[in-house]
Amino acid sequence: MLDNLTIEKTSKLLSEKQVSALEITNNYLKKIKDSNKLNCFITVSDEKAIDAAKQTDKRISNNEKIGLLDGVPLAYKDLFCTDGILTTASSKILSNFIPTYESTVTANCKNQGVVVLGKLNCDEFAMGSTNKTSFYGPVINPWKSIGNDEDLVPGGSSGGSAAAVAADLCVASLGTDTGGSIRQPASFTGLVGLKPTYGRVSRWGTVAFASSLDQAGPISKTVEDAAILLETISGHDNKDSTSSLKENELFYSNLNSSVKNLKIGVPKEYMSDDLPEEIQKFWNEGKKILTENGAELVEISLPSTNIALPAYYIIAPAEASSNLSRYDGVKYGLRVKEKSLIEMYESTRSEGFGDEVKRRIMIGTYVLSSGYYDAYYIKAQKIRSIIKNDFDNVFKNVDAIFTPATPNTAFPINREEVDPVQNYLNDIFTVPANLAGLPAISIPFGLDNSGLPIGMQLITNSFEEQTLLNISKNLQDTINFSNQPTQWWA
Ligand code: GLN
Repeated sequence: MLDNLTIEKTSKLLSEKQVSALEITNNYLKKIKDSNKLNCFITVSDEKAIDAAKQTDKRISNNEKIGLLDGVPLAYKDLFCTDGILTTASSKILSNFIPTYESTVTANCKNQGVVVLGKLNCDEFAMGSTNKTSFYGPVINPWKSIGNDEDLVPGGSSGGSAAAVAADLCVASLGTDTGGSIRQPASFTGLVGLKPTYGRVSRWGTVAFASSLDQAGPISKTVEDAAILLETISGHDNKDSTSSLKENELFYSNLNSSVKNLKIGVPKEYMSDDLPEEIQKFWNEGKKILTENGAELVEISLPSTNIALPAYYIIAPAEASSNLSRYDGVKYGLRVKEKSLIEMYESTRSEGFGDEVKRRIMIGTYVLSSGYYDAYYIKAQKIRSIIKNDFDNVFKNVDAIFTPATPNTAFPINREEVDPVQNYLNDIFTVPANLAGLPAISIPFGLDNSGLPIGMQLITNSFEEQTLLNISKNLQDTINFSNQPTQWWA
């Protein structure tokens, strides 16, 4: 009864008094203890979790009406500042940083009575697609290829957030998505991952990577759970000037699964001979399901798709180089003692940041430098506008866009790395939605011949998350993906 819980199921068990929040929490804490091989958690906040669970139980025994998330054990990517709980961004430079404040996103969850099990491993400062750039070591995907014991990456950067839900170490989790970091790991682990419209969710108190692209969102087992979490974390926040003034929406209660008369675009630029046959197969199957269920498929064109990735890998590092200048050994985290101030800055940053972060800071500094600003940064910004225009044109005629989420499935941790660009290519299908600020979701579709999950992506126009969730529910209910990884780690 306590395994593979969704938010909906947990809430039902609690409100019907079939089990206590403490029992559920203890069960998860035990499973986390047995999961060291996966390396999902950087910090387990067991005492706080037990306290929160007891408070839920008190509310239930007083017959207070509890909300859907009250007493539900979740875990957060270690990028969200949590009051009194270590927050590292998976970096050595923040290895001793205990915030005295709570990010808006996690504060919203706290207000609903969520039980926080701990903080999840990710790529350092959310830079990566493998979770291998973490100072705390890689996360191991709970899924394995059939008949092959090799460890696989869970995707990244929210690799811990995906692996922990897939391994059932928490009911659902929160991640962040700057170029695909929620959708790609969700796709690699057979889960639902949602990146909201830019501005839907406050960024306050979330460690910044590229501020014009970053959005927090849920990774969950079902579309319903994604709707519940999105509803909880979204809303205007005075502390984030880019957060939207839009009224909160009731995504969960308004969920319906009809796709009748919806027009769904399939971009011809996403079709390629390089796309693995099995991903192509599920993409075709999805198109068939949508048509059979009453939607109309339309071939569309997003002509600038091929320049999205290069533009992203200029804009994101540029913003990162600026955001990460605050880690100087003075205000936060690590300080390496040296004789002079300049030497202290240098040693702190050299020792505190890992290779990928240093690479991004150097690329970012280069493209922002006066001699190259026009050639790289301004050009990339122009491309960003063109990409947004492409989407604006398409959304005059369609309600959603349907594509694969990733160009490949989970790959071996020990895959030989030719160069960093090989990893950057993971984001080819996800990055355009970030550049255009659009909401997008990855939903599990099936397994490839090696038994590894494949996800498909839907993108809608800004603030059309309800349509995004409704189409996803239609696909989810038709496909009925219920596979789980075989437990080998405990
Ligand atoms: N993989 C992409 C990168 O490395 C996206 C990361 C993210 O979305 N945080 O930049």
